[in-house]
Amino acid sequence: MTVKTALDQGTRLLEDAHVAVPRLTAEVLLCHALRRERVYLYSHPEAELSEHIWIHYGRYLHERMRGKPTQYITGVQEFYGREFVVTPDVLIPRPETEHVIDAAIERVTRGSRVVDVGCGSGAIAATIALECDASVWASDISLAALHIASHNARRLGASVHYVAADLLDPFPAGSMDVVVSNPPYVGLGDRESLQREVRDFEPEVALYAGPTGNEIYQRLIREAERVLRPGGWLIFELGYRSLDAVRAMLDQRWSEVSTGPDLAGIPRVLCGRLSTEMSTSAPFANRAL
Ligand code: GLN
Repeated sequence: MTVKTALDQGTRLLEDAHVAVPRLTAEVLLCHALRRERVYLYSHPEAELSEHIWIHYGRYLHERMRGKPTQYITGVQEFYGREFVVTPDVLIPRPETEHVIDAAIERVTRGSRVVDVGCGSGAIAATIALECDASVWASDISLAALHIASHNARRLGASVHYVAADLLDPFPAGSMDVVVSNPPYVGLGDRESLQREVRDFEPEVALYAGPTGNEIYQRLIREAERVLRPGGWLIFELGYRSLDAVRAMLDQRWSEVSTGPDLAGIPRVLCGRLSTEMSTSAPFANRAL
């Protein structure tokens, strides 16, 4: 069995199982079995696969055909130009979430104290720690997630303080300049509409907020009002369809509220600033980021 034949056969199997991007997936899985970069597949199409490699590749193909996301098979996902380790204990970082980073970079100033709430793999926290000159904390209710997040920060040389917590519970009032989050925002009622890769393999604690999907936003906003210093920023990812509900949760204490779209044009990031004093102006200015 050569590299080329293995790729052709793997692609056909994935295609028949209706897996998206079958050729690329076969390439990524074969590289993972070979422990080599993709360029090897093109420079060595006639290389013979050992039985050992063939067995691993076959297992990866089988797992992918059953719906397991490629990233949980390879154990990694790229985010903001860096590689993060992922396991089924953490959500796979999404490209949409890179917009949260862009919004944070615009608002985090030198020496800022930043907390990433519900850090999962730690992609947001580690990226901010590496991109900005800030002190970064990260919380998660899942100890398994904190373990992965701290592993990622160590691998990447990012300095982040980890706290096991339900949202911002242990953080003192007025202690943070920026609160950033990609919280769970899927409603339990939308469970069946999720892709099987998400529904059957990603951690429920990272996906579902409650019956409507807006339950964590409500708590996050209330807790951010306590933990942010006056003038501090709250930045978080919006679910597709959460904007109206979230807008209704932001009272006159919030100013400079804006949203930014993802690449599909959906409002994906919300930023708001905790007022330094009570303001009577409309909180939602609807500016683009
Ligand atoms: N964006 C994820 C999805 O594709 C959900 C992540 C979240 O709830 N924060 O379903």
